Amino acid sequence: MGAESRIRVLPTHVANKIAAGEVVERPASVVKELMENAIDAGATQVDVAITAGGRKRIAVNDNGGGMNRDDALLAIERQATSKIRDVEDIEHIQTLGFRGEALAAIASASRFRLITCAGEGEPGTEVNVAAGCVQDVREVGRPVGTTIEVRDLFFNIPARRKFLRAHQTEMGHVRHVFLVQALASNRVGMRLNVDGHDVYHLAPAGTLVDRLRDLFGADYLAGLVPVDAGGDGLAVTGYVSRPGRSRADREEQFVFVNGRATSAPAIQYAIREAYRAALQKDRHPAVFLFVSMDPGEVDVNVHPTKREVRFRNGGAVRDAVMAAIGKALATAGASSGDLAASSGEPLTRAAPPWAAEQLGIEGLPSPRAFHYPRAELPPADDTGLAFAGGAAPAKQKPEGDDAAGAPAPAGNSPWAWCSVVGLIGGQYVLLETEDGMVIMDPRAAHERVLYEQFLADVERHRVPGQNLLLPETVAMRPPDAARVRKHLDVMKAMGFGISEFGGDTFVVDALPAYFSETSSQILLGEVAGEIEAAGLRRGSGRWREELVAQAACRAAVRSRARLRLEEVERLVMDLARAEMPYTCPRGRPTLMFTSLKELDRKFGRE
Ligand code: ADP
Ligand code: MG
Repeated sequence: MGAESRIRVLPTHVANKIAAGEVVERPASVVKELMENAIDAGATQVDVAITAGGRKRIAVNDNGGGMNRDDALLAIERQATSKIRDVEDIEHIQTLGFRGEALAAIASASRFRLITCAGEGEPGTEVNVAAGCVQDVREVGRPVGTTIEVRDLFFNIPARRKFLRAHQTEMGHVRHVFLVQALASNRVGMRLNVDGHDVYHLAPAGTLVDRLRDLFGADYLAGLVPVDAGGDGLAVTGYVSRPGRSRADREEQFVFVNGRATSAPAIQYAIREAYRAALQKDRHPAVFLFVSMDPGEVDVNVHPTKREVRFRNGGAVRDAVMAAIGKALATAGASSGDLAASSGEPLTRAAPPWAAEQLGIEGLPSPRAFHYPRAELPPADDTGLAFAGGAAPAKQKPEGDDAAGAPAPAGNSPWAWCSVVGLIGGQYVLLETEDGMVIMDPRAAHERVLYEQFLADVERHRVPGQNLLLPETVAMRPPDAARVRKHLDVMKAMGFGISEFGGDTFVVDALPAYFSETSSQILLGEVAGEIEAAGLRRGSGRWREELVAQAACRAAVRSRARLRLEEVERLVMDLARAEMPYTCPRGRPTLMFTSLKELDRKFGRE
């Protein structure tokens, strides 16, 4: 007797179970697949119900095209799909699904029920499956559409069941999946019911903004700015958070490529880089980004759950996304009004619309109000500002000739008008604006202003230099000296009169005027430290200049004494003109906003 062949073709139910391990990781993956199928079927309403974190029951009901009896039975076969016929179709895939393995996998790992009807007046079909074996098929009545119910997920695969986490954790994943689908298909009405309670009830909305508001609320929306950029067959749209808003994780990053929720290293990189100067390390923005491009330029078939895509030209995608976010952030201030629930009120107002007397409080000093931008700035010469040498950056003047003092449209400004209310703890400045209140960190703000002015001058080769009366020799620690030496050429080009004296000592005989009041020792120390901290992080072409400027501005600001009120006012106005007023150059916030709406809510006035 010859030895028995050791290789065999797996029976279907075993193959399905293996596939189940790939496609179905946890309840959330079931929700994802079922919602995608419903949307592929053209549903305008998709309702999801979850019990016990999805372990007990997941049900998805849709009003899409449904299936006839034959298709219903075929649907739960492996590699049965109505969505592609040939390999070439994958290149032009329009639907979310196409591999034809989800239903088979889910049915093989649960008690599964499919009820569907493909046409008005036609009989509906109910199929019951347990652990991949069809139990019964019968005719039922139901409106056009499909309901799939998945009970006791992994009841027959104990190894998998063991890996399920607490209900809360599984629910978190389900919620995330639901959000992804809700964002991807904002025209579809959706509902998420958890243990009998509606968690989300989303109207078939018209636009992404409506959907975002329904999901997260109007206040959240006010923290976002629109992204809208296109060209060269590649469009990037959506919303991203203002630099001041961030979180410690990436939970609120939703990226869609041609409508498909996905992640791609090129896009992750672009997001990080776009916010590099705007967010603190370890903080992450919220992004809702939709990239659309020629489907032939994307490979979606690299991952069984289609989580990742690959681009033919990743560099182009990266650059486009970076540019799009950059543009959005640069105009961050102006757009808050469009997004917030429209109150219909114009953003530009001449002065605070109230007076202390109105409140019936006597003896309250009236805040000093001024608006941005103001035609004439207070003279800077006698205020002793550290950046007295630098003229305000030459930004474009707003259109229209406004009479002196009249409010002009706030171009890039975080506010239309604002008044300095006072100081808090001698450290923070409290401002009132048309939206509510703002707390400003004057040091961070000063760093930002100085940084932009300095870099703008460097770019135009117009750094005002200042010769030191006495050249200073600065001795540095060897590693710091090495770093400074490495960037000496850049520093020279930036207006630092600095040369090597031998060993780890340098001679400084001139400084950019911005920093002439700062000691060279501190300045060089900061620069070395900053270069150290930055490591090899390089993104933009100017990274060395930016690094040096960051460090120098930090040192200059840190070595200054307290600010006077006139200086604060000047600072507030300069900040409002900045390209990126919301953070210091290293990403710490300069401003914290609290809207009137938020105050109303907190005081229970809503
Ligand atoms: P895929 O989505 O990759 O095609 P699935 O296993 O998820 O594979 O689904 C198999 C087939 O079943 C689909 O191609 C589709 O024809 C049909 N189907 C699944 N869900 C639905 C639904 N909710 N409404 C209509 N048809 C569906
Ligand atoms: Mg599918």
